[in-house]
Amino acid sequence: MTVDVFTTRHPFLDGKAKRMLIGGKWVEAASGRTFSSINPATGEVLAEVAEGDAEDIDRAVAAARRAFDGPWRRVKPYERQILLLKLGDLVERHFEELAALDTLDMGAPISRTGANRQRAVGMLRYYAGQAVAIHGETIENSLPGEYASFTLKEPVGVVGAIIPWNAPLSSSIWKLGPALATGCTIVLKPAEEAPLTPLRLAELCQEAGIPPGVVNVVPGYGETAGAALASHLDVDKVAFTGSHLTGQKIVAASAGNLKRVSLELGGKSPDVVFADADLDAAVPGAAMAVFANSGQICSAGTRLFVERKIYEEFTARVAAFGRGLRIGDGRDPATQVGPLVSAEQLDRVTGYLAIGRQEGARPLAGGERLTEGDLAKGFFVPPTVFADVRDDMRIAQEEIFGPVISAIPFTDIAEVIERANRTSYGLGSGLWTRDVTKAHTLARGIRAGSVWINCYQAMDPAVPFGGYKMSGYGREGGKQHVEEYLNVKAVWIRTG
Ligand code: ADP
Repeated sequence: MTVDVFTTRHPFLDGKAKRMLIGGKWVEAASGRTFSSINPATGEVLAEVAEGDAEDIDRAVAAARRAFDGPWRRVKPYERQILLLKLGDLVERHFEELAALDTLDMGAPISRTGANRQRAVGMLRYYAGQAVAIHGETIENSLPGEYASFTLKEPVGVVGAIIPWNAPLSSSIWKLGPALATGCTIVLKPAEEAPLTPLRLAELCQEAGIPPGVVNVVPGYGETAGAALASHLDVDKVAFTGSHLTGQKIVAASAGNLKRVSLELGGKSPDVVFADADLDAAVPGAAMAVFANSGQICSAGTRLFVERKIYEEFTARVAAFGRGLRIGDGRDPATQVGPLVSAEQLDRVTGYLAIGRQEGARPLAGGERLTEGDLAKGFFVPPTVFADVRDDMRIAQEEIFGPVISAIPFTDIAEVIERANRTSYGLGSGLWTRDVTKAHTLARGIRAGSVWINCYQAMDPAVPFGGYKMSGYGREGGKQHVEEYLNVKAVWIRTG
């Protein structure tokens, strides 16, 4: 059954989220506590959600360990492939419902959440393919005598996945896909701001026939449930997506058993526009590199470097584009920019708007919270463009995670590469030019995990995504992602 979430009460809005999935059973938190999930467009409570803590994480990790040591161990790659394909079919069938849950829970417009089908369904099908492509190697050795040597690839074991709220459906799938493909088991801790889609996805995992304990979902707060998962001595790997400050805590918490860690963290990505670019494409491209998802994307191109001779014209056009976007409740299909996810995020972003003005940046668009009519009830900040930004300003250095562009002029290519790299982050980067030499020079010169040329935010399950520097380590997507969920075992046989 597919539920129209905007018109019908969805079971997860109507009490079902008070339970979480542990060891194949829907159970209440051991403490009996729940917390409220808020609709950021209206400020209203959407649902009461089970508040997992260290005790629930213990139960979930034990279930995941039992499943890992049990029959799941003997499930063949081909059978895991079928499970992933079944899950992909279910996600496709229920895609509108899942997208609508994302919209209600974290605010992104349905025009966005409903368009990301391939990042969810395509990812599961890509990992279905990867499940049957895992292989070790036969390696020639030089020992005296007769020895054969080869490698086996084995699942790392129990994975703790901690995800943020800015894309709950795809973030969950980007952890589930490689875990299931490789034969790991998983305890997924959704963000407290947006736990509903991951819970519904857990139900679809059951429907797909994934055995009990292989996928467990424990909602709860970061400082309790998240910290318990990151430090748990029986978790073999933590896959984390979130802020760099939490990433540092995760690394510290991993030391107890030296578990493997992969980190997809924040950014302050440069987007460089040369005067020779196709400006009609660069204006919307550079604007949506930040305004999409209200700027709540880790790789948003928030430092907009514009060649000085087109700086005034180009920034004015980006500002006009931002002012023309439709802001509102994400349930309206015409909405292009939704609210920020929470009151905390609203405080943080409006704090940076004030800092930008104090630092002497010139607002060309936006710059204040929106409080007209119904918008006052939600957490709305309009697309904002600050001009006259200097590299040393806080709005040019710190991740805002809101719809805020810091526009900076530059003169030549060597200078812009050096200035683009003057950040502690290195996640995304963009450049707009018709000159292939400039494109190559920047693609090699910028220290970041992705370079988008004449586009921004292009992503595909087969292409690796991840950070340099304080944007983290490890890659999601592509073959390397699978390797991160595998151990390599060397086997020697004396044959002579
Ligand atoms: P954001 O600022 O995007 O909310 P966070 O890094 O705070 O980013 O949150 C991302 C995820 O990390 C969420 O699921 C959150 O609950 C979790 N988290 C927050 N603090 C901790 C912590 N100390 N240990 C483990 N997980 C945490």
